Amino acid sequence: MTVRNDWTLAEVKALFALPFMDLVFMAQTVHRRYQVPNTVQIGTLLSIKTGSCPEDCAYCPQSVRFHTGLETQELLEVEEVASSARRAQQSGATRFCMGAAYRSPKPKDLRKVLAMIREVKSLGMETCATLGMLTPEQAQELKQAGLDYYNHNLDTSPQYYEKIITTRTYQDRLDTLQAVRDAGMNVCCGGIVGMGEEPQDRAELLHILATLPEHPQSVPINQLVRVAGTPLERAPALDPFDFVRTIGVARIVMPRCHVRLSAGRSEMSDELQALCFLAGANSIFYGEKLLTTGNPDTEDDQNLFRRLKIVAEAGAGLPGADLAGAGLAGSGLPGAGHTAGDAPAQMMSLVAAVGPGVQAAAQHAESNAATV
Ligand code: SF4
Repeated sequence: MTVRNDWTLAEVKALFALPFMDLVFMAQTVHRRYQVPNTVQIGTLLSIKTGSCPEDCAYCPQSVRFHTGLETQELLEVEEVASSARRAQQSGATRFCMGAAYRSPKPKDLRKVLAMIREVKSLGMETCATLGMLTPEQAQELKQAGLDYYNHNLDTSPQYYEKIITTRTYQDRLDTLQAVRDAGMNVCCGGIVGMGEEPQDRAELLHILATLPEHPQSVPINQLVRVAGTPLERAPALDPFDFVRTIGVARIVMPRCHVRLSAGRSEMSDELQALCFLAGANSIFYGEKLLTTGNPDTEDDQNLFRRLKIVAEAGAGLPGADLAGAGLAGSGLPGAGHTAGDAPAQMMSLVAAVGPGVQAAAQHAESNAATV
């Protein structure tokens, strides 16, 4: 099965329309073909500059326009960031992400961020940053300093975007993604669900991501954290199954990417997180804070990994990494050493429906549902 970036919107919508079990089954089947099952990538995120952002993203407590009681923080010193990275590395993290609340970085601040990236890189860690919009020249400078990944989310569909952000356009975001790709960095780009958008908006977002010239290497799927004081503090609660559907469709249409279960995890039950992993999520941030909003306690994450027998991707220090070291293959544990080749024929025939025949599969499933 080749990786496609010619998905049609109708195909993506048809995936969303599948019965829930069929979608999760298909997503897990695709997952086992392209990813190592029962394995999750662990990243660590540090806010290197917090709050006072001039943008008006309606979900964000870091905007200077909303009164959320957020404690602001100027750009950290290089040494502070380097010692945080060393601590993260000692606890097993292999990737270190640095987030700053900017519309776009100013030259003086960018120089300092470049020094941070060099320091973190010199530790032998993968580096990731999110600093707002970039010019092609800034993207080149970041790449030369050793930045591996750049995060810049599209957030939602182009239509709904206008209700969420007015200070920068969708095209601005696409231009930054282009600059990042052109500089040779990996793209981390996803969105937020639960902002009051329609299912159509989620389909459009994933359709745009899956038809970029190259799929993003990481796709964070965030669930809105309704922060008091932001315009979205009273957004209607999202049906958790719709969140899982979004993960599942992302996995199917972008099979090689890391789908990150990102913001909103602290409001999810263990069972819902497990369902997200089943639908193809294979990346999380580890640590008690996600820039400014809460993240599950590290101990809770350790327990969840233990209970699900999920292992951390090589190098990460969560319990379960031991299991990986001991060699799951041949252990008889579920998922041990699985590859696509192990998938039963029935699974593979379902996967064969993904692609040109996906609409037919969805229609078939819908007509089945109608007869129940
Ligand atoms: S999401 Fe980023 S750009 Fe938007 S207000 Fe928050 S920090 Fe600023």
